[in-house]
Amino acid sequence: MTKEFSPSPRTIMTPGPVEVDPRVLRAMSYPILGQFDPEFTSLMNETMVMLRELFQTSNQWAYPVDGTSRSGIEAVLTSLIEPGDRVLVPIYGRFGHLLYEIAERCGAEVIAMEQEWGAVFEPQQVIEAIRKEKPAIVAMVHGETSTGRIQPLEQIGKACRELDVLLVVDAVATIGGVPVETDNWCLDAVIGGTQKCLSVPAGMAPVTYNERVERKILSRKRVERGLRTGLVPEAYADETKLIRSNYLDLSQLQDYWSPARLNHHTEMTSMLYGLHEGLRLVLAEGLEARFARHRRHEQALTAGLTAMGLSLYGDCACKLPVVTCVDIPDGVDGEAVRRMLLDRFGIEIASSFGALKGKIWRIGTMGYSCSMKNVLHLLGALEAVLLRFGAAVHPGAALAAALDAYDESAAGEPAHAVK
Ligand SMILES: *Cc1c(COP(=O)(O)O)cnc(C)c1O
Repeated sequence: MTKEFSPSPRTIMTPGPVEVDPRVLRAMSYPILGQFDPEFTSLMNETMVMLRELFQTSNQWAYPVDGTSRSGIEAVLTSLIEPGDRVLVPIYGRFGHLLYEIAERCGAEVIAMEQEWGAVFEPQQVIEAIRKEKPAIVAMVHGETSTGRIQPLEQIGKACRELDVLLVVDAVATIGGVPVETDNWCLDAVIGGTQKCLSVPAGMAPVTYNERVERKILSRKRVERGLRTGLVPEAYADETKLIRSNYLDLSQLQDYWSPARLNHHTEMTSMLYGLHEGLRLVLAEGLEARFARHRRHEQALTAGLTAMGLSLYGDCACKLPVVTCVDIPDGVDGEAVRRMLLDRFGIEIASSFGALKGKIWRIGTMGYSCSMKNVLHLLGALEAVLLRFGAAVHPGAALAAALDAYDESAAGEPAHAVK
């Protein structure tokens, strides 16, 4: 007989998946409702209202795509890109490469521009490339979890609007932890993630898009419908207009999320319970307070790490507040340190990809994992492990510096309030 599965309690300090509020887990255990049950459809409607607030948008369309975050990215790009469309992808880390790859699979003529890892683009560089290359779409990452950098988007968004280019943004890592101002920054389509700063398990991808995006998608839908029903004669049928995915076709998904509720897939009942509760908790905390909390714990963490004698990776002017990348000290086996943190302290931190593999650790301070208890627990444990591996760290300095940072940022607040 297989034993019942019972996961060990963990302190998860990675860039996702992160710890989940028990209230979200409880919501996910509620009884199933039919997907057209009025109780369920009103849950869908409330979710859309909360997503608009989260994305800071008045867009009609803000709903989750079922699947992990890349399903949202793929849904937006597959529904939007017609083969031959010129798509500019500014890349400054691993997830920029993902956008490139998906755009390429959609048949786009993809133009890449690359920034050295550890930095981001000057907005003007991207704007000049847009003027020169004249793409139909620009796709870029807001918060690069692979390098721990954040790309300022406001100027790029405004330039795209002026030049009539659509801007698609991967805000998977930033939504709910760092400001993402869809309307103010003129972002045309934004994809979020659940298992990062929203602190909901992986499995849904909240997306929002405006009328500019919807127009392009619907121009494809009509042809597709016509082809399916035989209303568009072969001679006029433009195959490039066909949206190649059924599951990820936003024109069909928005019909399902519209009052018409045209049947598409079976909505992920328990996932939606979880997302609804997660969004409720995010908005109850308040976006501004939540962003400030992520800043506060980042400051304590970085104060502790640097006091210990470790150095932070990358250009600090564009550091992503919710992911801190640390240079692995010379002579230290980064994977052995991670293993000991997990085995002895129950703490998980992340390694990295590509050229950064073995060079840096990545520490997430996201959502429910972003707490004083976790930051202090990690700093104490990391110091002990590094001392054991003979690294030259300053004993006792990290926790003292982090506690000082907390005292400065939240004078007098009791521990439970500094979550
Ligand atoms: C995590 C992440 C993704 C991929 O999300 P999945 O849920 O694993 O599909 C995409 N982009 C960014 C910036 C991420 O941090």
